[in-house]
Amino acid sequence: PFDVLVVGGGPAGSSAAIYAARKGIRTGVVAERFGGQVLDTLSIENFISVPHTEGPKLAASLEEHVKTYNVDIMNLQKAKRLVKKDLFEVTLENDAVLKAKTVILSTGARWRNVNVPGEEEFKNKGVAYCPHCDGPLFEGKDVAVIGGGNSGIEAAIDLAGIVNHVTVLEFAPELKADSVLQDRLHSLPNVTVITNAQTTEITGDTNVNGISYKDRATDQEHHVALQGVFVQIGLVPNTEWLDDSVERTRMGEIVVDKRGSTSVSGLFAAGDCADSAYNQIIISMGSGATASLGAFDYLIRN
Ligand code: FAD
Repeated sequence: PFDVLVVGGGPAGSSAAIYAARKGIRTGVVAERFGGQVLDTLSIENFISVPHTEGPKLAASLEEHVKTYNVDIMNLQKAKRLVKKDLFEVTLENDAVLKAKTVILSTGARWRNVNVPGEEEFKNKGVAYCPHCDGPLFEGKDVAVIGGGNSGIEAAIDLAGIVNHVTVLEFAPELKADSVLQDRLHSLPNVTVITNAQTTEITGDTNVNGISYKDRATDQEHHVALQGVFVQIGLVPNTEWLDDSVERTRMGEIVVDKRGSTSVSGLFAAGDCADSAYNQIIISMGSGATASLGAFDYLIRN
């Protein structure tokens, strides 16, 4: 069996695997897609000490770094079930079963899509999901934020300080964000809020040039010319497959303590699939290291 089996091969999983392997213990990583969300990212400018890189390049470096250690990488394999017997047993989609003394879950998350024409086509060409990451690319431009919950309104406030103008589109008749955020938003001169707005299309030629929405009260179609669209309708952790094998929040995030330990002893979690407050590459790597050290601590005590 593995001493440490890491499920997920993004920044959190890569970091966890390296920290485990450096202890000289038997380490494996199983990943549906090694690299994770980083593969879908163009420009990365907040990975500290690296002023600028690109997603596929960082993903390649992650893999290269993991491969300098004795780590068994099982790429293009998806886990579908986890049970704890004497050992943990992780069953893959192809029904193979991997056994391990400890498991680190680092299956990440995915942005919820709006699923309108143009979203897929203009991803990284004006359609964005992370204001901390991509906001500065829209300096001086006009953008829309889809979603009037806390993350949408936080994004709108954040972006308003960088871009020329922000249009917030909320599907419901009113914003859902906390009132302190709404007050802050309404105090800003360069934000327009449109409620009852159903986004129907993101338009563009080579890059985004506008957004179309239907006013749900009047059924009228409108089009706003702009250069960027931030989709902020939720981040979904990739934890459905765990059912109730481990404690998760209402949002599906795995609950961890300061050592990355979950409700099941010997089971750890890190990165976007866990209940950390913020989801970023640097944070995922830190929590991957924490979970791995937590797992090592567990191994030497049991
Ligand atoms: P992920 O990167 O999501 O990796 C999860 C891993 O688990 C993948 O290998 C996946 O294939 C695997 N997996 C999932 N389910 C299973 C399963 N059942 N079995 C096996 N494997 C599974 N952050 C920044 O700091 N700076 C940026 O500029 C930035 N830009 C971004 C741009 C975009 C478009 C996106 C989508 C995200 C961006 N982020 C950025 C956020 C950052 O990418 C994430 O916070 C980070 O990748 C999280 O790392 P992770 O390892 O927790 O999860």
